[in-house]
Amino acid sequence: MKFITREARDNWVAALLSKGRVVAPVDSKGKLVYKQITAADEAEWDFERTSLPAKTWYFPMTEPILFIEQGKEIKLKEAPVPAPVVMFGVRPCDARSGQILDALFIGKPPIDRQYANHRQTLTMIGLSCPKMWNTCFCTAVGGAPNSQDGLDILMTEVEGGYTVEIISEKGEQAFAGVSYEEMDIALPEPATHEALPAVRNSDDWAAVFNDLYWKKLSESCISCRACAFVCPTCRCYDVRDELVAIKPGVKHYERLRAWDTCTISGYRRIAGGHNPRETAEKRLRNRFYCKFMYYPEDFGPLACIGCGRCIDVCPVGINILEVIEQVDQLLEAEPMKA
Ligand code: SF4
Ligand code: SF4
Repeated sequence: MKFITREARDNWVAALLSKGRVVAPVDSKGKLVYKQITAADEAEWDFERTSLPAKTWYFPMTEPILFIEQGKEIKLKEAPVPAPVVMFGVRPCDARSGQILDALFIGKPPIDRQYANHRQTLTMIGLSCPKMWNTCFCTAVGGAPNSQDGLDILMTEVEGGYTVEIISEKGEQAFAGVSYEEMDIALPEPATHEALPAVRNSDDWAAVFNDLYWKKLSESCISCRACAFVCPTCRCYDVRDELVAIKPGVKHYERLRAWDTCTISGYRRIAGGHNPRETAEKRLRNRFYCKFMYYPEDFGPLACIGCGRCIDVCPVGINILEVIEQVDQLLEAEPMKA
């Protein structure tokens, strides 16, 4: 097993910084987020999870996807391929969320070119969780605090430093030249939560679709969208053209892609003004059905990695783990039909 000291870790980060862009968890006004760093000592290594997911580096909140020049003719220019990024401190759940989004954006045609470029130029270096934190439930949705899924390298903190497991070719390249020792080290077993509820299958979710539970649950939802904006697996977006410059005879536009979310009232409105999800009940129900029924049916994986961020952030205490438990209980009992 490869072992590096903390000093070797910082030298590694410094060496990568001399070659290109490095991103790590950074304290930003009291919130931990993945940001580009300029020195090794800016990175945080002792943390639970970041406030915003690693997704922000391959599916940014807002980004131009096309540049449009409107003069006598219309000229289009695609957004350039981003410069490579090495990202440290990726929690294993966040890495799994990349695989989940891949299933939609690049898993089958049409391939999303912009997303593919971000994924190809990003190297993800994971940091095992020593335990499941308060609201984590990764083990209930197929993950683990020390999962290697979706990572290029996995680091695990041990006495005096870290073990380093190289998982991919990109990982090998990122680790090239790092000073390490080969040691016999037993990896620590992360503490996990006992008795987490099992996620029911699509047929079971379909069976409780019309239950009054969803109306009751939504009565406190204020449609603030916070749950979706912190979620590593939410991937709805809106596209609009913004006029950014006017020159004689030419207008310059940027076609922007920006995160959107199904919990806001206008999200599902269609031409003519009809809205098939006009109530908070229908919108909130859709959020959970998207994660546990629609996405698995359409793309394979569950659209939740059990990070618990939406539980932490919801101002009215709507808790996805309780929803999973409730669905389980509804199926045991006679469903209340709407
Ligand atoms: S726990 Fe919540 S925030 Fe985390 S992946 Fe699941 S739905 Fe998204
Ligand atoms: S964070 Fe809570 S209140 Fe806000 S939209 Fe999500 S479920 Fe509703």
